[in-house]
Amino acid sequence: MTETEHLLVCLAEECAEIQQAVGKALRFGLQDNYKDSTPAEDIARECCDLIAVIEMLEEAGIIKKTGTIQAIEQKKFKVRYYMEYAREHGTLS
Ligand SMILES: [Mg+2]
Repeated sequence: MTETEHLLVCLAEECAEIQQAVGKALRFGLQDNYKDSTPAEDIARECCDLIAVIEMLEEAGIIKKTGTIQAIEQKKFKVRYYMEYAREHGTLS
C-alpha cells in the first residue's frame, strides 16, 4: 500500500465514522447519552477527523486545496436552495 492509498483509506474510514454517528443521531437523538459521548459530540469529533485527513491529502499534493470560502459558501447556498425546494414539495417540515 502506498501513502496515497493509506490516506485514501483514512478518508473513507472517517466518512464512514461520520455516517455511523449521524445514524445514531437519527435513531436515538442528537443528545442521547448511551455512552460517554453524545451523537452530536461524535459528529463534531468525526468531522474534525475528516478535516484533518483532507488537510493531509492536500499537504501531500494528492488532492487540490479544497474548502475555499467561495466553495463553502456555494455549498451552503445549494443546501439552502434544496431545503426550500423540499419544503415546497412537502417533504421537509
Ligand atoms: Mg474518526
